[in-house]
Amino acid sequence: MKNKIVAGNWKMNKTFSEADDLIYAISEGLNDMELETDVIICPPYPYLEMATDAAEESNFTVGAQNVSYAEKGAYTGEVSAAMLKSMDVDICIVGHSERRAYFKETDEELAKKVDQLLANDIVPIFCVGETLEERESGAHWDKIGGQLENSLFHLKKDEIANVIIAYEPVWAIGTGKTATPQQAQEVHAFIRKKIEEKYGTETAYNIYILYGGSCNPGNALELFSCQDVDGGLIGGASLKAEDFIAIVNAAETCTKND
Ligand code: PEP
Repeated sequence: MKNKIVAGNWKMNKTFSEADDLIYAISEGLNDMELETDVIICPPYPYLEMATDAAEESNFTVGAQNVSYAEKGAYTGEVSAAMLKSMDVDICIVGHSERRAYFKETDEELAKKVDQLLANDIVPIFCVGETLEERESGAHWDKIGGQLENSLFHLKKDEIANVIIAYEPVWAIGTGKTATPQQAQEVHAFIRKKIEEKYGTETAYNIYILYGGSCNPGNALELFSCQDVDGGLIGGASLKAEDFIAIVNAAETCTKND
């Protein structure tokens, strides 16, 4: 059976000393566990080194929250995939709905970011998801299908095998409104089917599809127990060590119950 993945997306939160405290508390919590779950922490760029240092003494991996679509050069303020790799960052979130909405990132730009990451041996956590309006009008299938096709389906089979997908309904992110386990399962199964049609059954089975959107210690077990939910991308609840560890525990319980 597949183990689960739990990834924490800190977004633009925490000062340097708060980040230090949080990393320390999470490390302590994880060190007390015999982990089967793959735990990933994605702090803001300035705290990546602090996190990779702590990761050496603990059992989590460090991810970034964004990367440039360009390889290098005159792109003031940007951070390249090669820079991340040189800091021992092995994972990076791409296509988060906040970046799509506030920074107008397009599917085409995101395809380039995915390429940059894969070329540097960094695993993209590629986010897809619909707005409330799209869900209510039934446009969510086309929206999610299009996001996959436009940003991922140019990849070869051995490349997509190194991508993690996160289904994050925009209406559930940071709102306290979670998708029901049925809603999550239905979309995860749809994503897996799309992967199967394009890349075959084995690739579809092996690919990780995480759920993200107001996941918390109270709902994680039920969500992670869905057949096609391979874990979670956690925003708000990853900012409190106790809550994050409780979510990791839910993932562990699911794996043990399988
Ligand atoms: C996210 O931003 O990836 C996320 C899932 O946020 P939250 O858990 O706060 O809804």
